[in-house]
Order: sequence, then structure tokens, then C-alpha cells
Amino acid sequence: MSEPYDAVIVGSGPNGLAAAITLAQAGYSVIVYEANATVGGGARSAELTLPGFLHDLCSAVHPLAAGSPFFKTLPLERFGLEWIEPEIPLAHPLDNDSAACLYKNVDLTAERLGDDSPAYRRLMKPLARNWEKLANEFLQPMLHLPRHPMALAHFGIPALCPATLLAKLLFRQESARALFAGIAAHSFLPLEAPVSSAFALVLGLAGHAVGWPIPHGGSQQISNALAAHLRELGGTIEVNHRIENLNDLPKSRAILLDISVWEFLRIAGEQLPPSYRQRLKSFRHAPGIFKIDYALSEPIPWKAQPCRHAGTIHLGGTMDEMAAVERDVARGKIPEHPFVLVAQQSLFDDTRAPRGGHTLWAYCHVPFNCDTDMSERIESQIERFAPGFRDCILARHKMGTAGLEKSNPNLAGGDINGGAANLMQLIARPILSPTPYRTPLPGVYLCSASTPPGGGVHGMCGFHAARLALREIFAVH
Ligand SMILES: Cc1cc2nc3c(=O)[nH]c(=O)nc-3n(C[C@H](O)[C@H](O)[C@H](O)COP(=O)(O)OP(=O)(O)OC[C@H]3O[C@@H](n4cnc5c(N)ncnc54)[C@H](O)[C@@H]3O)c2cc1C
Repeated sequence: MSEPYDAVIVGSGPNGLAAAITLAQAGYSVIVYEANATVGGGARSAELTLPGFLHDLCSAVHPLAAGSPFFKTLPLERFGLEWIEPEIPLAHPLDNDSAACLYKNVDLTAERLGDDSPAYRRLMKPLARNWEKLANEFLQPMLHLPRHPMALAHFGIPALCPATLLAKLLFRQESARALFAGIAAHSFLPLEAPVSSAFALVLGLAGHAVGWPIPHGGSQQISNALAAHLRELGGTIEVNHRIENLNDLPKSRAILLDISVWEFLRIAGEQLPPSYRQRLKSFRHAPGIFKIDYALSEPIPWKAQPCRHAGTIHLGGTMDEMAAVERDVARGKIPEHPFVLVAQQSLFDDTRAPRGGHTLWAYCHVPFNCDTDMSERIESQIERFAPGFRDCILARHKMGTAGLEKSNPNLAGGDINGGAANLMQLIARPILSPTPYRTPLPGVYLCSASTPPGGGVHGMCGFHAARLALREIFAVH
């Protein structure tokens, strides 16, 4: 009997949908099983606080989606995806009421960094010019033959450095150092760790190349557009269908799993050869997060004026302060003054709140599996840079590490990146191989953020895994 589908995909996150689209584009029949009632995994939106206030459940700001080499090839605008570019992509306020800013324009960013202007320009300008080439290089497994070795070497040398070291070598003033370190902290690594600079470079460069945009109508619009495109290609999506065991899937030629290594161990552990199972068991989690969404009666009264025009704001003070906090988090210590990331989408998108109202998306880094309620500490950190913030709060919705895991099995322990992104796990994600998506089970591929290039809404894990399946199972080259 022939299989009902050529390929089965488990999970409808950006990577699952990207994998499904890649296979459907090649003419194969696909079905996606999704545990939740809605598609999108880490790219979803809902009214979490009050009626009419639309919040992003997970991802909010999308330099990687807008800069994704795969998403760029898809007709997502035709399915309603519209990017909004906040006036200032990112602001990083300091206690002297100033704020360092990342603008889309490299020269403007450099100019506003005072004495560090030449160093910033020297670092970022040549790399920003090569964004397209670089994005293709680093958004795939590390073990590959580079097509642009010169551009990659120019990026790779600073990228390997610890963020604190590179920032101290290059910059003399606090604003440039804090701006760079705040972006590097997206790595969830201690800022003294090798390769932490890579995150500041990739996200900073993406900011200069494509901005740090938000989708009109919420992150759900990215997933809705991907899902609509998949359906147009003939794909099927079944929601409210959690897969408990790999054996429960219908017969197919290929299986692509948009699930973390830990969920893979849960649903297929017994079938995996002991050595592979052991490797997955030794794969390390990243720290977790604690998230809060707010419904607000007015915009946040930031002291530093640029913050009133920025989509994303990093609240962590100086580089040394952030480095100490991230070090603590990595060691399992709960920070008193956490590094807080906020996005104020409703300033730029009036679909997010009723007239006059506003939303705020915020999270801070916490140790893996931490069960402490961080809301007081997050609010103190916001008040530090915006006194009077608490008076604007109409309602809040909190999600700790356990809540995150309940909302999506891939977020176990609050780890939002499918595993730590340290140097070892960037190279061997989850195994050391030029084709790390392939598992020892015939026809079964992993395609979540636990595979290269890792976390973020870009769909490149799904795309590369599906391309491998096309070559190996369907003989499409
Ligand atoms: C709070 C938060 C904020 C973030 N902010 C940003 C941001 O601003 N920008 C950015 O680019 N990235 C951000 N991220 C990261 C980004 O969301 C993820 O890296 C990305 O979604 C990973 O995509 P994925 O397809 O690998 O997995 P996911 O998006 O996690 O999707 C996996 C899907 O698989 C489903 N699933 C899992 N197990 C099963 C099973 N057994 N059966 C059926 N279905 C299953 C899940 O329900 C889920 O829908 C954030 C994440 C979080 C949690």
C-alpha cells in the first residue's frame, strides 16, 4: 500500500513550516502535525491580557526572519505579511539619561557613538556590505565549504572573540560597549565566553541590512503567511495533535521533526542507538527566560528620548553590569537586576492595542528551569529607566519557565533556543557532522532550532533539513 503522504512534519514552528514548504515546492505531499491549537510555535500572537490587546507569545522582533535567505524567496507578502520598521531599531539607555542606538544606517549609528565612531564604522561597514553573502554562510551548518571564504574570515575572527574582550579592544566609551554587549547577550552566553561576539555581529549586521522589523498584526502573521503558502502548495496542517511516539506517525518516506533534542529523546528515545542517544543526552540547555506582557494605558515614559522611538530596548546598564548578570545566570544564580529585553510594538502598529492603549513585551534571562517570579525585578529595571512605568500598567500576563514549557514542548526549562549556543554546540548541533539534521533512524531528520543555525525565526534549520531529505530520500538535487 502506498503511503498517504510523502513526508510527515512534526511541529509547525518556523522551521517545521519551512521544511514542509521546501518539500511541497518540490512536488511532494506533506502533512504537519502540531500539538497546539494554533500554528507557529515561537511565532504566535494572542490577546493575553485584556480584550483588544494583542501580544506576541514568543518572538516579537525579526531581523532574522526579514534577513532569512529562504523566507526572502517566498511570496509571504501576498499572504498578508507586512514588515514595519520602527524609527529606531534598538535603544540601550544608560543611567545618565542618554541612550546608545542601533540605527539601520551604519554611519548614523557610528556618528552617535562619539569617540568610538571610527571603530564602529571600521568593524561594521565592510561586514554590512557583505550581509547577503555572510547570511548564507552562517545560517547553515558550521562544517561546510565556504563559498565566500574572504568575507567569512573577516567576520569569523572578531566573531570568535568574547564580547567583553572585543568591546574593550575596540571601544573606549560606555555607550558603544553597552550597545555591543546588550546585543551579544542574545547569545545567552556569559559575555566572556568565546563566540558571544558572533551574536552581536550577526544581529547588529542584520539591523543594518534589513532592520529589526516587527510584523503588522503580530508575529502570528509570519506563521499564518507560511501556513497559507504551504496550503496553496497542497500541504496539510493538523493542529491539536501532539505526537507522543514516533511509531504513531502514518507511514511516509521522510519524517522531519521540528522538535528539540529533548522532545526527540522523549518520543523516539527507545528506538535510537545508544551512542546517538548518549550524545543527545549530553547536549546542554541554554539558560531560561521569564516573560511578561503588559497592557498599558499610555506609552512608557522613558527618560532617554530615543527610547520613545525605538522598537526594541535593552535594559541592563553598563557592559560590566550585564556581564556580571549573565555570568550569574549561567552559574544558576538568580539576578537581582536582570538583563531585560523589551519591545513596544504598539508604538508602531495600531493593531496591537485599542486606541490610546499600548502593549509591552518583556523578558529577562534566568537560570535554566528557574521557578522564581521575576516580575518585581523586571519592573524595577524598567522603572530605573522610565520612572512612572508602573502607573501605566492596566494588566500583566506572566510566563515562567514551567509555563513556557507547557505552551510549547520545545521550550523545556525556559530555554528558548533549542539548546545552548556555545562554541561546541554551534559546531556540533546536535552532532558533529556536515549533515547534523540526519538521525540514525532511516528517513528521520531533526529540523528544529536544536540544529544549525540554531534559535531565531528564520526557518533555515527546516530549509536545510528538507534539502537534505530531498537529496537523500527523493533523489532531488
Ligand atoms: C519568549 C520568546 C521570545 C523570543 N523572541 C524572539 C525574537 O524576538 N526574534 C526571534 O527571531 N526569535 C525569538 N525567539 C526564538 C524563536 O521563537 C525560536 O527560536 C523559533 O521559534 C524556533 O523555531 P522552531 O521551528 O525550531 O521551533 P518552535 O517555534 O518552538 O516550534 C516547534 C513547534 O513544534 C510543536 N511541537 C513540539 N513537540 C511536538 C510534538 N511532540 N507533537 C506535535 N507538535 C510538537 C510545538 O508546539 C511548536 O509549535 C523567542 C522565543 C521565545 C520563547
